[in-house]
Amino acid sequence: MDVAANLEQIRNTIRQACQKSGRNPDEITIIGVTKYVTIERTRETIDAGIKNLGENRLEGFLEKYNTISDEASWHFIGTLQSRKVKEVIDKVDAVHSLDRHSLAKEINKRAVQPVDCFVQVNVSGEETKHGIKPDDVLEFIQNLERFEKVRIIGLMTMAPHLDDEDRLRTIFRSLASLRDNVNHENLPHAPCKYLSMGMSNDYQIAVEEGATHIRIGSELVGP
Ligand SMILES: *Cc1c(COP(=O)(O)O)cnc(C)c1O
Repeated sequence: MDVAANLEQIRNTIRQACQKSGRNPDEITIIGVTKYVTIERTRETIDAGIKNLGENRLEGFLEKYNTISDEASWHFIGTLQSRKVKEVIDKVDAVHSLDRHSLAKEINKRAVQPVDCFVQVNVSGEETKHGIKPDDVLEFIQNLERFEKVRIIGLMTMAPHLDDEDRLRTIFRSLASLRDNVNHENLPHAPCKYLSMGMSNDYQIAVEEGATHIRIGSELVGP
């Protein structure tokens, strides 16, 4: 399938989810996750109208960034090793995977401009997943105050890969409620407005539950 056709279907699904939940589709940013695909397919994605791209590994990110940097905004969505921060940090528009204090410290040290970050939260509690425990999120964010180059703009989660709609909904709802808690603190370094949640398998539910950034790979660009 070409990317444009896939995108049309995804936009339809988003529209339906928005209708169901009384939201405006303009509130939702589609991040095209290009980690599986070639530069050509990535260009096709941009041409189809996707201006936000996501990569989860340094090598894949740099390969694409070095070829087509100007045409897109870049989201780093995967685990970021501290020693690799300096290679990406002034090239990305947002980091979705801030999951430890030491990483924030390194970002603060290396970045020239303040960096928009999502705190990754392990809502589902799976041991294999990265992320801060829900109960620790507020304190974690409060402790980032002295890092002036780290701006917490939202929370991110990866739901488990399952078809249990109720379970997924509960996970997304929990992240939204955590985001509200942080937001109510009015922390100057944490204008925590956004929710990065929803992937190919579950973005419809995520949008219904308030996602502002959905990260779509296989449904958009193919597996
Ligand atoms: C790969 C990946 C995605 C996209 O996954 P799909 O199921 O292909 O849509 C989204 N978020 C993260 C963090 C990923 O690593």
